[in-house]
Amino acid sequence: MELHGVGEYTARSVLIHVSEAGVAAVDVNVRRLVSRFLGVDSDAKAIKSIADTLSPSDRSSDFQHAMLDFAAVVCTAQSPKCESCPIEERCQAEI
Ligand code: SF4
Repeated sequence: MELHGVGEYTARSVLIHVSEAGVAAVDVNVRRLVSRFLGVDSDAKAIKSIADTLSPSDRSSDFQHAMLDFAAVVCTAQSPKCESCPIEERCQAEI
């Protein structure tokens, strides 16, 4: 993050893909998914640490891409597909 133009999201993404570290890169889509699933305010600072906790210590890059794809296809911003969502039973969202 000391490099010019490298922010936290980019630094975390590199870390995930290089070392498979158990951290998450939280963009607006991951934030939305975590917020809805756990019923946490999307503005909460804790979202990043929650996402880190969810991320496995191995295959964290696969987990990161799964969260991004899931948020883009199923848990979309405007019309989430809750009726066909495989994690609906455990989701805390009130949509
Ligand atoms: S049930 Fe709906 S809000 Fe919850 S994770 Fe699935 S798509 Fe998103």
